[in-house]
Amino acid sequence: MRITDKTVRDEITASDQANLVIRPPVVAFMGHVDHGKTSLIDSIRKSNRVAGEVGAITQHIGAFQCVTSHGAITILDTPGHEAFSSMRERGAEITDIVVLVVAGDEGMKEQTIEALQQARAAKTTIVVALNKCDKPNFDQEKVYRQLSENELLPEAWGGQTVTVNCSATTGEGISNLVEMLALQAEVLELKADPLARARGRVIESQIQKGLGAVTTLLVQNGTLRNGDCLVFDTEWAKVKTMRNELGKEVQSAGPSSPVLITGLSDLPSAGEEFIVVASEKEAKEVATMRQEGRKQTTFMKKRQGLESMLQKGATPKKMLNLILCADVQGSLEALKTALEKIQSDKVELNVISFSVGEISESDVQLAITSKATIVGFHTQVEAHAEPLIKSLGVIVREHNIIYHAVDDVRALMKSLLDKIAEEVDKGKAEVKATFNSSHTGIIAGCQVTEGTISRNCHVRIMRAGTELWRGPISSLKRFKDDVREVQKGIECGVVLQGFTDVQVGDILEAFEINYLTQEL
Ligand code: GDP
Repeated sequence: MRITDKTVRDEITASDQANLVIRPPVVAFMGHVDHGKTSLIDSIRKSNRVAGEVGAITQHIGAFQCVTSHGAITILDTPGHEAFSSMRERGAEITDIVVLVVAGDEGMKEQTIEALQQARAAKTTIVVALNKCDKPNFDQEKVYRQLSENELLPEAWGGQTVTVNCSATTGEGISNLVEMLALQAEVLELKADPLARARGRVIESQIQKGLGAVTTLLVQNGTLRNGDCLVFDTEWAKVKTMRNELGKEVQSAGPSSPVLITGLSDLPSAGEEFIVVASEKEAKEVATMRQEGRKQTTFMKKRQGLESMLQKGATPKKMLNLILCADVQGSLEALKTALEKIQSDKVELNVISFSVGEISESDVQLAITSKATIVGFHTQVEAHAEPLIKSLGVIVREHNIIYHAVDDVRALMKSLLDKIAEEVDKGKAEVKATFNSSHTGIIAGCQVTEGTISRNCHVRIMRAGTELWRGPISSLKRFKDDVREVQKGIECGVVLQGFTDVQVGDILEAFEINYLTQEL
């Protein structure tokens, strides 16, 4: 039978039914910046019974499993918000429990609320960590009040929300937090079949020196083994090596285990699903089939878009070409997703290339040929690409904060739009007499009746309520002197640039032209 997407999926779903066992919960830490997410994750990592072997060096692979006296827990240690949004973009609800971190000395802030909304939308269980309980101004009651106002009534106040007072600095309450996570997991009855073919999600991908393309996978069901062949979305892999977060090679990884693998055809994106197939040949075939399908759809969409635009007679949109570079696949995805959300009827964003790593010479060459701007996120320019950027005048924008990158790209998009001219009325003058000067031509002797008239104004000439002409002033005089401005009630002589038929009784309406930036 020919392999298709569907047959692979059907087979996997069928095998999911048997041998269900309890699996560890997958936990993400979210909250306001500086409230202690990273510190809490670190102190839990230190409490890990397995990693706790003295001197064990843990590596950042985007997730780790922690063995506690209450069982294992898988913790995502990519920035909660980034991991969460790129996973959710793909409809991948991989997080079972969100730990909402609130610094007890500061209370809930803007990003705490945002994290809470995200967790709610994903329908995950929420455990609140009231961190920094070692601080003298730690105010539990205040946080309880804020939580209640946000429909998270703490258990201590008779509600359902589990809260734990803790300190990442002193270690107080950390074991209690871990215990609460284990208890919540028990309630959730999380199950998986370790005997099934493995499937799961990509947590993050990057190029690592010495290893090449690596990706951290979270096995959600089944057991992943060394040598297994996997299909991602349009990439595939034959697992060459598998490592845990201690850098230790492992031969297999069961449900809820994160592992770093090598043997990839390319870098899969964060949140992508993977499934094990029977052979390398099948893996390649499915991935290639999807790639072809994707190209076809993109081509059709572009064509349809262009055709319907031409039919409607609309003006084609302006285009901002971008080349995106970021340190890891996760941040690249987060950046791309955030940029794609910029709405505009007038400017189209066209990401022509996106890659993990430093901004290279080939990125600069591509920027020249495609008239693109390079956006670097959490990365830098390769040393030998620097002179090329200067000599070719390529625009490179480097950012470390996603909102700044988005604002900057929005500004770049706006700068492509033509400015809108807006006329602002400044004053009016009535022509009382005309003079002919051999030197300057016809001079309109006027009296300013409203506002002011400036030398750099434009003028509309109105006769019996009809506009006869509009254009710039070439000279403005008081008696023999050139002046910059004449106020209401004062007489002046005006020479218009290119209009000589001015008559007594005409009204000169002076205006300035302001050029406004269009909104997207
Ligand atoms: P994140 O931005 O939420 O990941 O926050 P970090 O973990 O980077 O912590 C921000 C700052 O708060 C750092 O200076 C930490 O040392 C400090 N911090 C974190 N947890 C505690 C705690 O429990 N007590 C005290 N006193 N400081 C803490």
